[in-house]
Amino acid sequence: EISRDDAMFLTGFMATILLPALLGAHIFERASRRIYLHGLLERLRNEKLAARNTALTGLSYTDPLTGIPNRRQLDETLFAFLAVPRSQGALLLIDIDMFKAFNDRYGHLAGDTCLRQIAQCLLSCLRRLDLLARFGGEEFAVLLPQATPDEAAQTAERLREAVQDLRFSVQDRLVNVTVSVGIAAHENLNTPEALIGAADTALYAAKRAGRNRVKAAWQA
Ligand code: GH3
Ligand code: MG
Ligand code: MG
Repeated sequence: EISRDDAMFLTGFMATILLPALLGAHIFERASRRIYLHGLLERLRNEKLAARNTALTGLSYTDPLTGIPNRRQLDETLFAFLAVPRSQGALLLIDIDMFKAFNDRYGHLAGDTCLRQIAQCLLSCLRRLDLLARFGGEEFAVLLPQATPDEAAQTAERLREAVQDLRFSVQDRLVNVTVSVGIAAHENLNTPEALIGAADTALYAAKRAGRNRVKAAWQA
């Protein structure tokens, strides 16, 4: 039988030792759960932020109309390409022929659709290592990092023919457009300006020669 003194002692013991210990354990457990949840939330927030940053970076390197890499992506890739000593590689500049007339005749929305389809058409003719970018308005650029001058000329001709064979459905009829292409080989052109400048000069030679054709800088 528990004496009154024992009962008093037990009550005192509970009040002074056991209760604070239980309370402390409870508080500790709640605090550690809160810290764990806080860490989890922080991690989720960081992962969400990182995913959003990746998406934004992707967008800043993508042309919104065609979905292909933009000029910024081309410039950075070209810079990295030229930073490594090598002799192969070529740059193509592709310009849609008489595109202002196409817009004037069929409207800008039809022109936009045309640009999108040409981008997909060009893309489907290239290899995975090649970079197709929208260079500006109705101009595209292709970096062929491993091509010899001959291979670059063959690729340019293949692209030109593919666009020529493409048909667009506009106002209940099928129409087509053509492109002119200028090629510059890496060989002794070591800066982006030199490479782009040479391809541009070749492109204008193709325009002057009657459009819907390929001209190479080394033939000019
Ligand atoms: P050329 O054969 O000499 O290249 O003639 P062109 O008419 O293609 O060249 P020009 O530079 O005179 O006109 C380019 C046209 O491209 C005019 C412009 O409205 C059109 N263009 C540029 N960007 C876009 C675009 O994003 N959407 C549409 N629909 N048209 C565009
Ligand atoms: Mg142009
Ligand atoms: Mg044009």
